[in-house]
Amino acid sequence: MAEGGTNNLFNSALEQLAAVAERLNLDPGIHEVLKYPKRILTVSVPIRMDSGKVEVFTGYRVQHSEARGPYKGGIRYHPSLTLDDIKALAMLMTWKCAVVDIPYGGAKGGVVCNPKEMSVAEIERLTRRYTAMIAEVIGPFRDVPAPDVYTSPREMAWIMDTYSQLHGYLVPEVVTGKPLSVWGSEGRLEATARGVMVCGREAARVRGISLKDATVVVQGYGNVGSNAAILFSKQGCKVIAVSDSKGGIYSSEGLNTFKVLEHKERTGSVIGFKGSKDITNEELLALKCDILVPAALENQVTGENADNVKTEIMLEAANGPTTPEANEILHEKKVLVVPDILANAGGVCVSYLEWIQNLHREHWALEEVNSKLEARMVSSFQDVCETARKYEVDMKTGALMLAVGRVAEAFKTLGLWP
Ligand code: NAD
Repeated sequence: MAEGGTNNLFNSALEQLAAVAERLNLDPGIHEVLKYPKRILTVSVPIRMDSGKVEVFTGYRVQHSEARGPYKGGIRYHPSLTLDDIKALAMLMTWKCAVVDIPYGGAKGGVVCNPKEMSVAEIERLTRRYTAMIAEVIGPFRDVPAPDVYTSPREMAWIMDTYSQLHGYLVPEVVTGKPLSVWGSEGRLEATARGVMVCGREAARVRGISLKDATVVVQGYGNVGSNAAILFSKQGCKVIAVSDSKGGIYSSEGLNTFKVLEHKERTGSVIGFKGSKDITNEELLALKCDILVPAALENQVTGENADNVKTEIMLEAANGPTTPEANEILHEKKVLVVPDILANAGGVCVSYLEWIQNLHREHWALEEVNSKLEARMVSSFQDVCETARKYEVDMKTGALMLAVGRVAEAFKTLGLWP
């Protein structure tokens, strides 16, 4: 995480909330409540390392709002994780769940650690002890964690098992993003990318662009970026450039996105792919295309380089890939920016479907999961467009207004007790 990025993330979340509160003429009491997480739990997690030495790691679980349902949000393992990061991300989860209208509030958690320097056994002990220490505030109808940076279905299985052991019976619905073999959902792994693709298709419709032969550029070739590139290829798009942390590749003829993934798995990077030309990430962002998909890190399109962007549509697959200054420039350039809280919400939508399957002890077919995801993404996209039209704002502001408005409505209806 970039230096200073932490404060920027939380401060900009508060700034965004303030701007939207003003536009919505929000009750000042509700605005005040929404500025703060409802609960912050900090735990000191002692672990016996493989060397025999005991180390103590700091863990957090931050619960922002439960006005619309149980808290929901990922668990991140990162060496430079801070409480402010998690407070910001918990608030963003509240907006994300509200924008796609799923009955969850927002939360986020994590442990300050570097899993790249830990053995699998150490990561397992850390995950299980951390779970035990936050067990009193999570639960199927309280707070349902999920994977985030450097946590995966493997850690979710350990969380489920630890929580179940503590309660004496199986509780699969305490966590989502689990492996398929232990109550995970079909389609969960590529759900975020599928949501990105659906948003791209809807945005193309708005702009009168046919997906057949539309040109697509993808920054980042990890879980979201590679799956999105493959799904866009299947729609008939020409994916002309992709990149990863080592650099990018370009082909005016379009890349074979499956083969690029094989190449990356074999060599560790997309660069050097046969028949393509190597380019830098800056050059990639400035390519003329119909759809640009930043799917890597935050703050990639800034006040410095936004003017170089030559796309019709930008899908914010990553969280916060464009800065507020960049967003203004893109708006002036008439780029249709589909904001992160909508564009990358496919993952949390399928998490919700996993939770429902678990509660009913059911397992749905992939087609059923995908068609429910598709329907929810399409209706959410339309809701955001309608809000943006109604208030004459861009989609980014519209999405936040829709989300904050829904949460505020729930607060108003519930009232303040006592
Ligand atoms: P990942 O770790 O699988 O992939 C990240 C990719 O970005 C890698 O290919 C990496 O090489 C590349 N990358 C890193 N630095 C780069 C740089 N400077 N330029 C170009 N590429 C760079 O992560 P992911 O799960 O695909 O997540 C990507 C983004 O999407 C993150 O912002 C994440 O928060 C967001 N997101 C992910 C999900 C999900 O379900 N995985 C859900 C919502 C949001």
